Amino acid sequence: MRIPTEPIGSIPRSPELITAITSQTNAASLQALYQDAVKDTLVAFEKTGSPVISDGEQAKSSFATYPLEGLQNLAPEGMKINFEDGHSRQLPLLTQGPFRYGNYAQKYLAFAQQSTSIPVKQAIISASALSLIYPPGGIEGYTQSAFIADLLNECEKDIRQCLDNHAYKVQMDFTEGRLSLKLDPSGGVLKQFIELNNQVFNRFTAEEQQKLGVHVCPGGDHDSTHSADIDYADFLPHLFDLNVGSFYLQLASEPDRVKVLKTIKEYLKPNQKAFIGVIDVLNPTIETAEQVRDRVLEAAQYIPISQLGTTDDCGFSPFCDDVSTTRETAFAKIKARIDGTKLAEEKLFA
Ligand SMILES: [Zn+2]
Repeated sequence: MRIPTEPIGSIPRSPELITAITSQTNAASLQALYQDAVKDTLVAFEKTGSPVISDGEQAKSSFATYPLEGLQNLAPEGMKINFEDGHSRQLPLLTQGPFRYGNYAQKYLAFAQQSTSIPVKQAIISASALSLIYPPGGIEGYTQSAFIADLLNECEKDIRQCLDNHAYKVQMDFTEGRLSLKLDPSGGVLKQFIELNNQVFNRFTAEEQQKLGVHVCPGGDHDSTHSADIDYADFLPHLFDLNVGSFYLQLASEPDRVKVLKTIKEYLKPNQKAFIGVIDVLNPTIETAEQVRDRVLEAAQYIPISQLGTTDDCGFSPFCDDVSTTRETAFAKIKARIDGTKLAEEKLFA
């Protein structure tokens, strides 16, 4: 397609899979269920006509916590992220160094690639999100700077393994970017996050950076957000300082899309592409292809067509137990994105 279109990553898990995960089914049968769930997801993804697909994150505990699976040096009481509807998600805290991932994203990529011939993209978690697991009071014998050095190496390794194994793109999930402006309106924390993630991206060549992307959104869990009230216009100017080729930007659910598009136009750099969200993942109503087409045409008034792509506003189920959207709805929405992007192409390249 001349206007590229890509998913973010997660697809809701089936009720059977969620029950198995939450009821501590034995590891071997859970593994078999994960493999079936990934295969089912890939087949459903292929049916949407999607030129790029993901494994739907069926086997990840969440977009943020997969590297922590199986680690013994964690305590439960870390930073809490509060959502608008009153629910929260809590990160664990590191109790001891050295920090190494328990699990790398390449594992998911390799399994998906065995089961499809369509290009697979892989999401990974940001260094900035995982930096929050270091306890504010420090760890004896393991300084914060020693932790950060380990974290940068591990995040680089997570990405490099995916590139080495021919991921179509590697997308860093950076949902805490917009949230950081809520926690620190001065923007100091956001700057630190951007610098930290750039320390990872700067370990890659300019050519490799074109295969890297960043996803941002105001959070999406149980159909609720954590930072939608933060003005995008304060966030985007810093975001495009990240040294990657693709940006996957929530936009469909924004109250003033034109204002956001104008900001993107002002700050997007020549070697960067903006994949704009044309599907509102928190709204159960399925978009029509015509609605999607009109959103693309609207965006094309502000963003050069050569730098424009489409995506969904977020993953459909970033945490494994989120059942607010059904799989059927998620795939119908994805199909609307593909069909609508094609309709826009016909207009734009007529
Ligand atoms: Zn998101």
